[in-house]
Amino acid sequence: MDFEFSEEELAFQAEVEAFLDATQDPAVMDPARENMAQIVDTPERRAFMAQLSEKGWLGITWPTELGGKAGSGVYEYLLNEALARRGAPQIGKGVGIIGKTLIRHGSDKLKSEFLPKILAAEVEFAVGYSEPDAGSDAAAMKLKAEKVDDGWILNGTKIWTTSAHFADWYWVGARTDPDAPKHHGITLFLVPMDHPGLTVNAIWTMGDERTNEVHFDNVHVPDDYVVGELNHGFQYISEALDLERFTMFTFSPIQARLDLLTEYVKAAKRDGRPLKDDPVVRSRIARLTAEAEVARVLGLRFVAAATHVEGKPPTTQASQYKLYATELSKRLADASMDLAGPESLLAVGTDTAPMRGRAESTYRYTVLDTIGGGTSEVQKNIIARRKLGLPKNF
Ligand SMILES: Cc1cc2nc3c(=O)[nH]c(=O)nc-3n(C[C@H](O)[C@H](O)[C@H](O)COP(=O)(O)OP(=O)(O)OC[C@H]3O[C@@H](n4cnc5c(N)ncnc54)[C@H](O)[C@@H]3O)c2cc1C
Repeated sequence: MDFEFSEEELAFQAEVEAFLDATQDPAVMDPARENMAQIVDTPERRAFMAQLSEKGWLGITWPTELGGKAGSGVYEYLLNEALARRGAPQIGKGVGIIGKTLIRHGSDKLKSEFLPKILAAEVEFAVGYSEPDAGSDAAAMKLKAEKVDDGWILNGTKIWTTSAHFADWYWVGARTDPDAPKHHGITLFLVPMDHPGLTVNAIWTMGDERTNEVHFDNVHVPDDYVVGELNHGFQYISEALDLERFTMFTFSPIQARLDLLTEYVKAAKRDGRPLKDDPVVRSRIARLTAEAEVARVLGLRFVAAATHVEGKPPTTQASQYKLYATELSKRLADASMDLAGPESLLAVGTDTAPMRGRAESTYRYTVLDTIGGGTSEVQKNIIARRKLGLPKNF
């Protein structure tokens, strides 16, 4: 098996890097936002995405008849990883998750309305699966959808909806059949975020980023805005989560932080002695380096398996990658705090902070990585059940 990139792929990577060099703008690129850098939450970030669109870099893997390039997933991977390394907004949510799910399951109306807007970077989405009593067990969602003549009326509450305060559309799951087994009574809807029945309340996280609670008060959704088949929503949500676990948890920021820590270890002294001479420090950084290579290769295996947009996304590969990469990201954050000692508490932006203050910020931010998109325990359950055939525990 060859894990090296071809000449064409490397040429594309170089083209992307040259574009990013030329577009350096701190208002658009901020690696210290860690995984939240991917969201497209300001006019500057929207304008940047429009530039990616003009270059034809959105929808690389989408079919040509839907405006894509029918290209290999490797190109999408190279683009997304390059964006993530710079802390630039990324293609995950629209192109990678919602677009691909609409291509597989959406009606012609939804495809013709949303796919061109996604390709033109003209629409941003919020994703609403979690509720106050339905997180890991997302199929327990209770947001009520009742049938009326021309559509559905939605009532209830979603929680942790990142992006709800700036998105244009809400990709949201609701219970359409309360009598069916829980996985079979859920339908996916698209709802405009400016609907007067929606109230969005901020929740601020320890990573200084905003997520939201969203209340639905008699929100009318026309039948045309049901995604795919009625009561099949949980199947689509599961597929979308497989895509999310890979597309929205990128590897390159982990490597960039490991490089920062390695540079620090090479240069810093503790009690007058170089840190690089300490066998415990050397052992720890060597181990992290080996683990980073495992995470990189797990990611590449997923790319190979997920190249075709029409195929069902690979489930256990996505869970294995997400579990390993995000747990490594946390171990790396712990190591940065430990090895830089008390100064690691200095905030991002402090001139004298080791690793430009990234230690304390990644320590706070990486907590989210093992929760969002399904916790590490949920990933382990998926691997146990679907890969190993072990019994269900809930
Ligand atoms: C900052 C942030 C942003 C988010 N953004 C979004 C978003 O945009 N859209 C969205 O829909 N959701 C979002 N989420 C929600 C996220 O997906 C959930 O928090 C996550 O799925 C866990 O659900 P929960 O918080 O209800 O925890 P719970 O499900 O209550 O879990 C609590 C603990 O119990 C463990 N646990 C639960 N069930 C099991 C089990 N069967 N076996 C073993 N252990 C178990 C969990 O691993 C966890 O450690 C976000 C969350 C955060 C923190």
